[in-house]
Amino acid sequence: MAGPIRVSFEFFPPKTEEMEKNLWEAVARLAPLSPNFVSVTYGAGGSTRERTHSTVRRIVTETALTPAAHLTCVAATRAEIDSVIHSYQDAGVRHIVALRGDPTGGLGDKYAPHPGGYRNAADLVAGIKRIADLEVSVSAYPEKHPDSPSVEADIDMLKAKVDAGASRAMTQFFFENDCYFRYLDRVRARGIDIPIVPGILPVQNFKQMRSFAERCGTSVPRWLAERFDGLDEDVATRKLIAAAVAAEQVLDLVERGVTDFHFYTMNRADLVYAICHLLGLRPVAKQAVAPLASLSHGERVPARSAGG
Ligand SMILES: Cc1cc2nc3c(=O)[nH]c(=O)nc-3n(C[C@H](O)[C@H](O)[C@H](O)COP(=O)(O)OP(=O)(O)OC[C@H]3O[C@@H](n4cnc5c(N)ncnc54)[C@H](O)[C@@H]3O)c2cc1C
Repeated sequence: MAGPIRVSFEFFPPKTEEMEKNLWEAVARLAPLSPNFVSVTYGAGGSTRERTHSTVRRIVTETALTPAAHLTCVAATRAEIDSVIHSYQDAGVRHIVALRGDPTGGLGDKYAPHPGGYRNAADLVAGIKRIADLEVSVSAYPEKHPDSPSVEADIDMLKAKVDAGASRAMTQFFFENDCYFRYLDRVRARGIDIPIVPGILPVQNFKQMRSFAERCGTSVPRWLAERFDGLDEDVATRKLIAAAVAAEQVLDLVERGVTDFHFYTMNRADLVYAICHLLGLRPVAKQAVAPLASLSHGERVPARSAGG
């Protein structure tokens, strides 16, 4: 029998007062679902360094949530990155999501490591572990990272990150579950046994999602485009479709043995909250986090150790 469902939520640091309000409303709505952790992204080239830090610090001081701070290698020396790691440690943060990051010119430009910086994500994981025994999560790409010559090269990088001390990977978002399971088979065949947690993106805005997906190498299946077809001006129906699409995806993953999910919230709670409800999660004040057994979605086949 697979274990209980565990979720994590990803937020980004807000730029404006209004975005700040949205973020903390989303955090307040999702917190009672007792996520495993909540993560806060780090803007390209360290552009959100201060905002990421203050958001993470506020999570530590004002909530009972466990934060994970994203950190990239881009445009910074080792000493600068190490000082960020130390400041997280001082603030009580025990979990870092270690990434290479995108080139400063954006995805598509050739990545060049900073001459005095960490070379790549595996090098950064090793650097974090040298400083302190923090929990380190990393990324994984079921559909191949756009910079990577092959899925095998991606898996080599994942292996290097695990060998350096990473203990969990969250995937880039995807829509075809078979693709995730094919990737998982290849990862397991390489002897990588850390949880490969599926990253789920509820589609708040199809057009925006498609343009982002193109840049990061996620394929957008025709069936998905057809479901959102004609709804550009119809926000209410779009939301219902988005909930249905994400629900189908996560329930299929659960049936196939997945227990852990990482949600790209885009700082909005409603769709994510609804999907978590479908997964059997309830606010802790009312009911303890429900075990998998409470789902009535047919027999589960916990054949693969995907998440936990
Ligand atoms: C869960 C998750 C969270 C993320 N959070 C953030 C964030 O907070 N901030 C942010 O800026 N970005 C974030 N990203 C995006 C990420 O930074 C980009 O995808 C970046 O391009 C790669 O960094 P990485 O650590 O994911 O990749 P890596 O695992 O380091 O590399 C991915 C693949 O690219 C190949 N590769 C790497 N460098 C080269 C090279 N120079 N030449 C050829 N191949 C290369 C590797 O071999 C590997 O196959 C996130 C992605 C995910 C999946």
